[in-house]
Amino acid sequence: MAFLFLTGFLVGWFARPSGVQHDHANDSKLLDFLNEIQADNIRQYLRKFTQLPHLAGTEQNLKLAKEIANEWEKFGLDSVELVSYDVLLSYPKPEQPNYISILNQFGNEIFNTSLTEPVPEGYEGVSDIVPPYNAFSAKGQPEGELVYVNYGRTEDFFQLERDMGINCSGKIVIARYGKIFRGNKVKNAILAGAKGIILFSDPADYCAPGVDVYPSGWNLPGRGAQRGNVLNLNGAGDPLTPGYPAKEYTYRAEQDEGVGLPKIPVHPIGYSDAVHLLTLMCKRTSISAPHRIVRMNIYTSNQVTRIYNVIGRIRGAVEPDRYVILGGHRDAWVFGGIDPTSGVAVVHEIARSVGTLVKKGWKPRRTLVFASWDAEEFGLLGSTEWAEENAKILQERAVAYINADSSIEGMYTLRVDCTPSLHTLVYDITKKISSPEPGEETMTLYDSWHKRDNWTNERNAPRISKLGSGSDFEAYFIRLGIAAGRARYTKNTKTERYSSYPVYHSVYETFELVERFYDPSFRRLQAVARVRAGLIFQLSDSQLLPLDCVEYGAALHKYTLNIEAIANRHPDAISRYNVSFDSLLNAVKNFTSAAQAFHQRLNELDRYNPLEMRMVNDQLMHLERAFIDPLGLPGRPFYRHIIFAPSIHNKYAGESFPGIYDALFDIENAPEQDKAWDEVRRQISIATFTVQAAAMVLMPLA
Ligand code: GLU
Ligand code: ASP
Ligand code: CA
Ligand code: ZN
Ligand code: ZN
Repeated sequence: MAFLFLTGFLVGWFARPSGVQHDHANDSKLLDFLNEIQADNIRQYLRKFTQLPHLAGTEQNLKLAKEIANEWEKFGLDSVELVSYDVLLSYPKPEQPNYISILNQFGNEIFNTSLTEPVPEGYEGVSDIVPPYNAFSAKGQPEGELVYVNYGRTEDFFQLERDMGINCSGKIVIARYGKIFRGNKVKNAILAGAKGIILFSDPADYCAPGVDVYPSGWNLPGRGAQRGNVLNLNGAGDPLTPGYPAKEYTYRAEQDEGVGLPKIPVHPIGYSDAVHLLTLMCKRTSISAPHRIVRMNIYTSNQVTRIYNVIGRIRGAVEPDRYVILGGHRDAWVFGGIDPTSGVAVVHEIARSVGTLVKKGWKPRRTLVFASWDAEEFGLLGSTEWAEENAKILQERAVAYINADSSIEGMYTLRVDCTPSLHTLVYDITKKISSPEPGEETMTLYDSWHKRDNWTNERNAPRISKLGSGSDFEAYFIRLGIAAGRARYTKNTKTERYSSYPVYHSVYETFELVERFYDPSFRRLQAVARVRAGLIFQLSDSQLLPLDCVEYGAALHKYTLNIEAIANRHPDAISRYNVSFDSLLNAVKNFTSAAQAFHQRLNELDRYNPLEMRMVNDQLMHLERAFIDPLGLPGRPFYRHIIFAPSIHNKYAGESFPGIYDALFDIENAPEQDKAWDEVRRQISIATFTVQAAAMVLMPLA
């Protein structure tokens, strides 16, 4: 049997010429696959999966898991299973709603924020719509004066405390949503001594000019509010079981000792309510009324709850022990019209399309894994627990992870964030897909994207960004060191100021929102589906892994110059404390030479020799793994990638050479300068070692 497989695959090689950089043997199969992906199927799946709420931990979301599992089986996947974990979730109490009050001088409530969002037309009969809340908020009824802290960023608190001399200690702070992950705002408020934090959606950030509020347009209505967790997990997953899968047998920390749980109440409101609270502060300063006080009334409670991932597999025909993963979350705050179901519908259509190839007798060379994650909204829990349970085999066998959260956040062009070794593959694939934009029928997605978002003056290509976090690729990329990427349609970030998209995490994320405004033809979602599909196809089926090490070298060089420039803002300290980037620059040089020589050697590769192929493919697979430091970054044991980490100031943003960056941050204010600069030197040496170690992966084997 094994022999038959092998001959089959060797004959396949004889029949087709092999390309230089990577093989094109499967080019026509790729095009068949991409052509199979249909806009109208994505439309139907999106409609079907957004009729009811699918909050993590609810019956409805388990039902959806079973439905998806059933359909994946029918599509032709080899195996599909539900994998459950018992993790800490957080819900408001139905009988004791959360709200915020303005109190008069007698302590009476003279204004209360609304308990719910007005439900959009057509959904009035739906039960189980969870009201706006911040998951994992502490319980409590803190009372106090309000302090406005802008976006609640590190720099906002610096300005308040250092420049304006405003002390937030013992106060309730109010921050507007946007710019950074909400969990970072809460962390900053706690560090500033606040006893509660209110998060509001400012129309400046959540309404595009000239656009109506939903349902006439896609802006956030005044009484709409953004749900969302406020954890600071730093990659831990379930707060009670850091490092280990949250199974029945698993030891759990006490609930009040969970990782990342905020110690103060947090609550989100819309701008209709926010104006009342903000007006109060204006009055306070102008006529200095002594008793303008707010009280937060928060009863949200944490609960260990069962969640379900759906895992589907198509067994690889040649290298079943090599995995390419396509994963995205299924749980939604309410209907999930965009987040995550525009991603779920796309994954569903990709699974159906792969299934049609499988039914015609095709198998990928490597194993394809499809994952529908649960409880992403509660801190990336489903994906992180599965990564924990499977860590040992993933670190040996996983080739790449492609994320499939929301497929769209704007109507302008493609957005790709990925590891540098995937740049070339992303460009190759987008050249094979047509533009979804009206009037661009003959243009490629690559050209359409390039025209709208050129990288820089130095690099004439469409922009590709670093991965940050805030979605399910985190454990795979940052903890395990698996090459990863994500792609979605986005807005014009140069002109559109608002964060994410206006109705993000509100009840107004419906099917109609997408069908009426974001993608009436569903061609944008189709294009995104084809990008994600093309990535997993090439990664799973190319004989030679389509990863580009030279691109990684170029990125490392850029990041090194960047971090050196940051350090050079302190010329005196640099010379006083003997700080040098020469060792790192040298390691990067070695890496680049090793990468170039590696790709040179690929040209002389005997592609008929399966062992030789396997050896170079393993080098390519292990490249990303080499950037993992088992000790992790300082104070963040689950963030182990030395080149990339979520910024400590904003989980959504990626930081390059995070260890060095954090050591340098605000260093001029460090109390002990010698110790602070010592840490910079230590971090540079860790980065140097890691880059050099990664270079060694690419060097001749013996
Ligand atoms: N994607 C979710 C959010 O942005 C969860 C992110 C996270 O916990 O990292 O709210
Ligand atoms: N939509 C977020 C993102 O940027 C993730 C989420 O809220 O689920 O990926
Ligand atoms: Ca765990
Ligand atoms: Zn979300
Ligand atoms: Zn999402």
